[in-house]
Amino acid sequence: MKTVWEKHENYNEIMNFNEQYKAYLNAAKTEREATDEALALAIEHGFKSLDSYEALKPNDKVYYVNRNKNICLFVIGEDSILKGMNILGAHIDSPRIDLKQNPLYEQDGLALFDTHYYGGIKKYQWVASPLAIHGVVCKKDGSIVKISVGEDDNDPVVGISDLLVHLAGDQMQKKASVVIEGEDLNVLVGSIPAKNSEEKELVKQNILNLLKEKYDIEEDDFISAELEIVPAGKARDYGLDRSMIMSYGQDDRVCAYTSLRAILDVENVKRTACCILVDKEEVGSIGNTGMHSRSFENIVSKVLDKLGVYSPLNLNECFRNSYMLSSDVTVAFDPNYPSVSEPKNSAYFGKGLCFAKYTGSRGKSGCNDANAEFMAKIRKVMDDNNVYFQTSELGRVDQGGGGTIAYILAQLDMEVIDAGIAVQNMHAQYEVTSKADVYEGYLGYKAFLKDMDR
Ligand code: MN
Ligand code: MN
Repeated sequence: MKTVWEKHENYNEIMNFNEQYKAYLNAAKTEREATDEALALAIEHGFKSLDSYEALKPNDKVYYVNRNKNICLFVIGEDSILKGMNILGAHIDSPRIDLKQNPLYEQDGLALFDTHYYGGIKKYQWVASPLAIHGVVCKKDGSIVKISVGEDDNDPVVGISDLLVHLAGDQMQKKASVVIEGEDLNVLVGSIPAKNSEEKELVKQNILNLLKEKYDIEEDDFISAELEIVPAGKARDYGLDRSMIMSYGQDDRVCAYTSLRAILDVENVKRTACCILVDKEEVGSIGNTGMHSRSFENIVSKVLDKLGVYSPLNLNECFRNSYMLSSDVTVAFDPNYPSVSEPKNSAYFGKGLCFAKYTGSRGKSGCNDANAEFMAKIRKVMDDNNVYFQTSELGRVDQGGGGTIAYILAQLDMEVIDAGIAVQNMHAQYEVTSKADVYEGYLGYKAFLKDMDR
């Protein structure tokens, strides 16, 4: 089996790139943090705010941040933008557990947060493990308090309890889908009662006192907060040979980071290069920070305007001539669970960037089946750049399936194909990728930005 490891004679470039990737994962556990980190890297690489330009010219590098939750980057090409862009799109939201609007309560002498999970999770995977709290509290005076608890070695962690095996006779008879139910994902946050207080719920009161002291927030402020419960801890090397990475949030920050790095590292492109990192994919891409929002069209309209070519017709022309890689993870063939995959059309660790001509489920339902002519162009660019790639489907026919943002961009009349990195344990607390694929993904994305229709 030909693998990426054989191609890169010395491992150093793969390993060095993955050290930077792990640092991004550790800093970016929510869509907001992923946006902040991407913005910082973009500024470091000479990108400037789109709004700071009166007019744009070739090789200008610009970014646009939408509501602190998604970011769009452009490197302006030498060709007219009406000839189309080369676009990379990935999502930066990941499955997690969100606090409800009225989360804090006391029961039986314990203080807990009530939650509503976000995205598709096997709920039983999220109990009896260290969890962290990340997010923001927006106060009535307009100020925003950023919160991150559980990542520093000196921080406390929180968590969701599971039943001891000794008393789990009834529980163990339940189907996996209900062994832990959604309404039971309650996060334990305290057990000390407040002193010298008239209040009834003293343990809850003590937590509120701590929050007031540390963050100057009141209970009412939870109403305008976005607090996310995520696995605590850092990305780790995985495997005795350190060939893989185990971390929370690799769906889809592995494609987000590699796509981001690709656009940061290209220069003097012929066609305008674009990278969009969006929110809300795990819940259907709805909302004004998700791919279904008109936000992307509005931003591209601004770019056209600053290039002096905006008209509704020209916007359509630009989209119609554009190419897009919907950069999202796919399933890695797993020898522990071979029955859900079809070996000839599966992605394997170490074999490089993975193209999925179509996703969907039950007879390709809901898929964006990329055109063969487009696939042929992509093959050529990958081969010309000596990028190792593979092709796959998400599992056996009728086994299940999934979707990405591909179909949404295809609605704008551009050529789109799914292209991502293979993952084990997708949507579990700790997902696994191959370092070779991460690096090859970056090379593939860069080749696409530089050389499609060059
Ligand atoms: Mn995804
Ligand atoms: Mn996902």
